[in-house]
Amino acid sequence: MKPLAPLKRPARTIGLVRPAQTTRLLLALAALFAASPAPADPAPFGVPVRLSVKFFLNASGNRPATGDINTDEEVRAQVARGNQILATWTHELRLHLVEIVNLSGLSQWYLATTDDRDAIRSNAIANPTTYAWRSDAVNIYITGNSGCSARADFPPDNNIVIVCQSIFNTTIMHEIGHILNLYHTHETAGSDGGDECSDTIKDHPDWTRDQISYTNFSLPYASLSAAQKYQVDMVWSNVMSYHNGDYRWMLSDCQQNRMSGQASADQSWLLTKRPIYVDPARWIPFLEFGTFPLPYQTIQKAINAGVLNNRVLVLQAGTHAEPASVLSTSTDVVPRQGAATIRDFKPNYDLPCNLEESPNPKLRDAILRVQLADQQRDKKAAIEYLLEAERHAAARERDAVRLELAQRYRDSGQLEEAEAWFNKLAAEADQPGLRERSRNKANDARAEIERRKQQQQQQNEPEPDNPQNPTR
Ligand SMILES: [Zn+2]
Repeated sequence: MKPLAPLKRPARTIGLVRPAQTTRLLLALAALFAASPAPADPAPFGVPVRLSVKFFLNASGNRPATGDINTDEEVRAQVARGNQILATWTHELRLHLVEIVNLSGLSQWYLATTDDRDAIRSNAIANPTTYAWRSDAVNIYITGNSGCSARADFPPDNNIVIVCQSIFNTTIMHEIGHILNLYHTHETAGSDGGDECSDTIKDHPDWTRDQISYTNFSLPYASLSAAQKYQVDMVWSNVMSYHNGDYRWMLSDCQQNRMSGQASADQSWLLTKRPIYVDPARWIPFLEFGTFPLPYQTIQKAINAGVLNNRVLVLQAGTHAEPASVLSTSTDVVPRQGAATIRDFKPNYDLPCNLEESPNPKLRDAILRVQLADQQRDKKAAIEYLLEAERHAAARERDAVRLELAQRYRDSGQLEEAEAWFNKLAAEADQPGLRERSRNKANDARAEIERRKQQQQQQNEPEPDNPQNPTR
């Protein structure tokens, strides 16, 4: 390592250190700086894609003093921006910065350009320690060259990105797009004559928004329908476009699916936590593996497969059946492409409601009286009218009334009556689910009766360890 060039004006004394010592101190600090990588960031919530960032230092052990990505803060801002974009789309993936390493002894690459990508990769794989090469992350090498931008590689070589000092706020996210198999929106090489995504319309790096509009719809942007404008915006502001470099943020459904598919395929080396996908609309019978292409149908099936510990359960937007068993593993749950709601568990039987509109006039009349008694908070009268309703009701209307009677007796502490009505329902209802649930409730009432009896007995008997005439 060459000593630092003499400072042009005398360095001011730092504390008790004289100027002559300052150079040595700076050198020592530089060496320390070079040796110790910044501590790893905790894994973000979601499905974390691992990024290992490395700076090629110059022969004096320094990073470039100027540029778009020469400080740790600028690295972290790129990661944060990428995660904001992913969160905006409720995408499950997140960028996980695992380290920032300063690489000494490789100053031949300090001014490397994006054209050096393959040479750097082959050298790094041959000398993993020197290059801090990782086989379990995307290796992002940052050079001091301000004459170039960035370049990633595609699968299956999607483990390297070269980044120079002339980049946009969204460049790391854009490059991770390539790593996850996304092409530019202006690509013309795909099998579909574009970027392999039919939901990104024709684009060119040099086009204005109106030119995109004219080419695709023969109209200026201002004359388009809302749906057409969205299609133009989707390429004009797309992360994978060459427009609006600092402000790109849009990702189409097709692009999001390609990213998920690639990350799922590369999960064994690329991801800090592996995703388990559940998608009731996309599953294939007998081919449920929890991967992106072959998701589970239900949360319950994922639980049954025993695959959720330390994984991220990714629920496709929509409604999911509530699992019957509890998720007891250490598992994050994230929605994908919109809100995912889990349907509340409903008992497995059906009973009629709105008995006040029953076609049975006597039942209807009794139920209206129950409702009036409820309004007047007359619990005893309400039960009397329910008993009357039960005498007039039939079939499932009668089941509904019996269940109500059992519940009201239970809740008013009349457990013998509650047990009797639950048992009647368990014996005579036509639906197995209702019979089973009523039997359980009858048993619960019986257990409560026994518990109260025991409690009563204990209160009546003298407690054995409590003398009747305690001496004080
Ligand atoms: Zn690109």
